Amino acid sequence: MTGLTIRPFFWRPTNLFPETRLVSRTHDGIVDSSYAEFGERVRSLIAALADRGFGPGDRIGTFGWNHHRHLETYYAAPLSGAQLHTINVQLGDNDVVYIVEDADDDVLFVDPGAPFETIERLWADLPVEEVVVMDETVPETEVDAVAYEALVAEYDPIAEDDLPELEEDYPAGMCYTSGTTGRPKGVEYTHKMIYAHAMMVMTPAGLDISERDVVMPVVPMFHVNSWEFPYAATMAGATQVYPGPAPDAADLLELIEREDVTLTAGVPTVWIDLLEHVDEHGGDLSSLERIVVGGSAAPEKMMRRYEDEFDVTVEHAWGMTETMSIGSVSRPKARMTDRDRSRRYEKRRKQGLLSPGLEMRVVDDSGEEVPWDGDAAGELWVRGPSVATEYYNRPEANEEDFKGEWLKTGDIVTVDEDGYVEIVDRAKDVIKSGGEWISSIALENALMAHDEVVEAAVIAVPHEKWQERPLATVVTAEDGDPGEAELRDHLQKTLDQPDWWLPDEIRVVERIPKTATGKFDKQGLREKLDVIDVE
Ligand code: ADP
Repeated sequence: MTGLTIRPFFWRPTNLFPETRLVSRTHDGIVDSSYAEFGERVRSLIAALADRGFGPGDRIGTFGWNHHRHLETYYAAPLSGAQLHTINVQLGDNDVVYIVEDADDDVLFVDPGAPFETIERLWADLPVEEVVVMDETVPETEVDAVAYEALVAEYDPIAEDDLPELEEDYPAGMCYTSGTTGRPKGVEYTHKMIYAHAMMVMTPAGLDISERDVVMPVVPMFHVNSWEFPYAATMAGATQVYPGPAPDAADLLELIEREDVTLTAGVPTVWIDLLEHVDEHGGDLSSLERIVVGGSAAPEKMMRRYEDEFDVTVEHAWGMTETMSIGSVSRPKARMTDRDRSRRYEKRRKQGLLSPGLEMRVVDDSGEEVPWDGDAAGELWVRGPSVATEYYNRPEANEEDFKGEWLKTGDIVTVDEDGYVEIVDRAKDVIKSGGEWISSIALENALMAHDEVVEAAVIAVPHEKWQERPLATVVTAEDGDPGEAELRDHLQKTLDQPDWWLPDEIRVVERIPKTATGKFDKQGLREKLDVIDVE
């Protein structure tokens, strides 16, 4: 009997949509292929892995961007019975060594260029047996390395009937949290968890992915399975476009125009950059129907601009490593479609309705559930077949972050009468001023709503009397210079909060540091501004 494994996700596109295109930007150009070629190459890779002694019980690390070879590895590793462990290529050396050692990876699949140079530099400290360079050739190196294309060329594809038997509880994937709030923690994904999550992501109540879509996942494949696109969009038989190493706005625009991309996804900063690029250089976004935005709060101004100027719907989603990414998506319910636009945006800018298959509870400090009135805030707890129930190797963190089947997300939220979740803040970012809470997200969104502000990040600064006070940093538009007084005035008018919410200081900065996944790096910001970290 086949259980809930990713086997059928591989069978479907390769047998039902063999001619559908897979497009991939690599370091040396754009590669065109199809699901038929994908199927052959994955089966060759499985044969290669087996011959080299990698299979059930082994962990295959990947250290690369979004491209067809990485997609093939997403299938070859778990289909061979091994576990795919995606590692963030933008982490610092210490974190890379920590994560590879903690996960005890057996082999690493690495992108050429900077990622390979990192592994080369750290080689003596890594426990892995071998490196597969995801390229045609291997550079001159001390590392035990083989070229990906040499493996695919050398081995005949394993027959579908000879694929190893899989169990739904086998570990199939693994990802570490990006460490925004401390040392990275490993989360393992079983076949069953991926099955449940990819199905949910594919449905209309999830990200609504179909064979008619041309999908471009911008969210990195090294982070939370690229929000499950590699499994959900492949299973759907969608045309897929992978944007390659470190894509910037120009790269994305080129692919959108060339491939008529209909659906894409990534963190807000990516889409803010794309708007700026199109403002400056022009560009054709007419094929785009939807952009899924998540990872951090999506500014309403950006959502509206895409809708007004390009007829693109921006869908706001929430999730985390522990929920395998997409845990909620915000769309107005059917009965809300005839509401006026601002009322619809009241819903769309929230993190939205919990994904099908999950349940939630929002609890206050005493463990009581808070009412769904859009006002009372508490910590969001979620559970379901795609939600982690423990961390790898971290019993002390398990105590803190899980309670039975419930994941305590660390996100402070409200829920309105219609069931829409809104994140007030991350428990660790919320500013505790004189016993009251100030939401850093609300301040950031209000600042970013100002015409001359491009980005804003707000952090807590220790304060003798009030315990903590907000400090805002803003990046202004190239031709903008709003000045602190005007921004304070703007906040006062738009925030709808008491005056003590206003930041004590608003500083204009060149740039706001970002984490390896493109979120505002508040820890880095505190260090940069020399604000003592009060955590
Ligand atoms: P890390 O915990 O290291 O930042 P994750 O990617 O797992 O890595 O981050 C998950 C967190 O990101 C969530 O708990 C939440 O605080 C934040 N987040 C995700 N999506 C959104 C969103 N749409 N709006 C606001 N915050 C979000």
